[in-house]
Amino acid sequence: MVRSRPPLQSVGVAVIYCYAPLGAGHVNPTLGVVAELVRRGHDLTYWAPRAFAERIAETGARYAPVTSTWEAMGRDTLPQMHGRELVRAMGLLLDETEALVPVLARAAGRDRPDLVLHDGALAWWGRILAHRWDVPSVETWPNLVSNRHWSMNAYSKVNPLDPRFLRMILRIGRYLRRQGIRDVRGFTQGERAAQRLVTLPRAFQYAGDTFTDRYAFVGPCFTERGFQGEWRPPVSGAPVVLVSLGTAYNDRPEFYREVATSADGRPWHVVMVVGDQVDPASLGPLAANVEVHTEVPQLTVLRHARAFVTHAGMGSTMEGLAAGVPLVAIPQMAEQRANADRIAGLGLGQVLDPARSAPDALWEAVEDVAGDPDVRERLGWMRSEIAASGGAAVAADAVERALP
Ligand code: UDP
Repeated sequence: MVRSRPPLQSVGVAVIYCYAPLGAGHVNPTLGVVAELVRRGHDLTYWAPRAFAERIAETGARYAPVTSTWEAMGRDTLPQMHGRELVRAMGLLLDETEALVPVLARAAGRDRPDLVLHDGALAWWGRILAHRWDVPSVETWPNLVSNRHWSMNAYSKVNPLDPRFLRMILRIGRYLRRQGIRDVRGFTQGERAAQRLVTLPRAFQYAGDTFTDRYAFVGPCFTERGFQGEWRPPVSGAPVVLVSLGTAYNDRPEFYREVATSADGRPWHVVMVVGDQVDPASLGPLAANVEVHTEVPQLTVLRHARAFVTHAGMGSTMEGLAAGVPLVAIPQMAEQRANADRIAGLGLGQVLDPARSAPDALWEAVEDVAGDPDVRERLGWMRSEIAASGGAAVAADAVERALP
C-alpha cells in the first residue's frame, strides 16, 4: 500500500490509483498509458480482478486484487446492452459499485492519491472515490463515446419512460446521494473528470469532430503482453485468418463448430479462439488447417493475419486496424453493432448478421475483404489516423496535465 510520499513538486512524482472492471476489453486498453506513466516515474497502484494480475504487473504498476461480484456470472447470463436488458446491466453495475466502494476505500486507508485514473464506462467506483477524496480524475474510454450529435442510444434503444428504467435511475440517484453526490446527471455523465482518454482515433468515432477537448482521442495504447506467451504462424505458409468473438459474449459453440467444419479444404489457416466457456475438444476432430485455442496472444497473431473475423469489440477492432488487417464483423451485442456499422461505413471490412452468418457467407466475406484493394487503401488511411493519435505518450501527457 502507498504510504507517505515526498511532496509532488519536489520530485515530479504523482501517486495514481487506477481502477478497472472485470473485462479484458476495459483493462487491456489502459495498459499502455499505465506503463508509460510508470516509465515516467509515477507511482501507480492498480486495483482490478485477479484475472488481470499478470498483465498489470507487466506494466510496472503495483497490482492490488479486487473481488468482483460478476466473477460468478456465466457468460450465458451476461446482460445484453439494449432495451430492458440494459436496465438489468445497470443494476449489476450498481451492485458492483455498492460492493466495491467500501472495500476500496478501506484499502486506501488514510492515504489519498494525487489522481484517480479509471475506466469511465463501468468503473463508477473510481468516480465515487475521486469525489470522496476530492482529487482529480481521468477516465479511460475503450469504446465509442456519446454526445448530443451522436449517441449510443441509437443502438441501446432504452425507452426513457419505461418504469423499470425510471426505477433504476431513482435507485442510482438514492445511492449517489448517500455518497454525498447531488448532481446525479453530472455524475453519470462523468462531468467531474478532468479528461476522458478515448482509446480510438477521432476518425473512428461517429461525429468525432463534435467532441470538445475534454475528450482526447489518443488511439489504442498497446503493450507487449509477454504474459500471453508465444504463437507461431503455420509452417504451411497459408494465409492466416483469426476468428474470435472476444472474451465476453463468446459462448457460441455452434458458430465455432460451423467455422471449423467449413474451413476444411479452404486455402486459409484458421486460428480460432473459443474463450473459456467452450471446450476446444467439443468441436471434434479438426482439419489440418484449423487450430483452436481458449486464448491467443492476439496482437502477435494479428501481425501475421490476412483477415480477422471478429465480434467487433472495440479492443479487437482497434488491434486489427492498427495491424492493417481487414475485418469481417459478426457483432454479438449493441455496442459491437455500433462498432461493426462504423467498420463497414468507413470501408474497413464487412458486417455479417450473426443470426445469418452461414459458413458460405462468412468465407465469401473473408475472401472479399482480403482481396479488396479499396479496403486495403482504407486500412492504410486508418492506420495513419491511429498513428497520428499519439497513443500512450499523448495519453500520459493528458494525465500529467490533470495533476494538481
Ligand atoms: N484477447 C486476447 N486473446 C484472445 C482474445 C482476446 O488477447 O484470445 C484480448 C484482445 O486482444 C482484446 C481483449 O482481449 O484486447 C478483448 O477486448 P474486446 O474489446 O475486443 O472485446 P470483449 O472481450 O470485451 O468483448
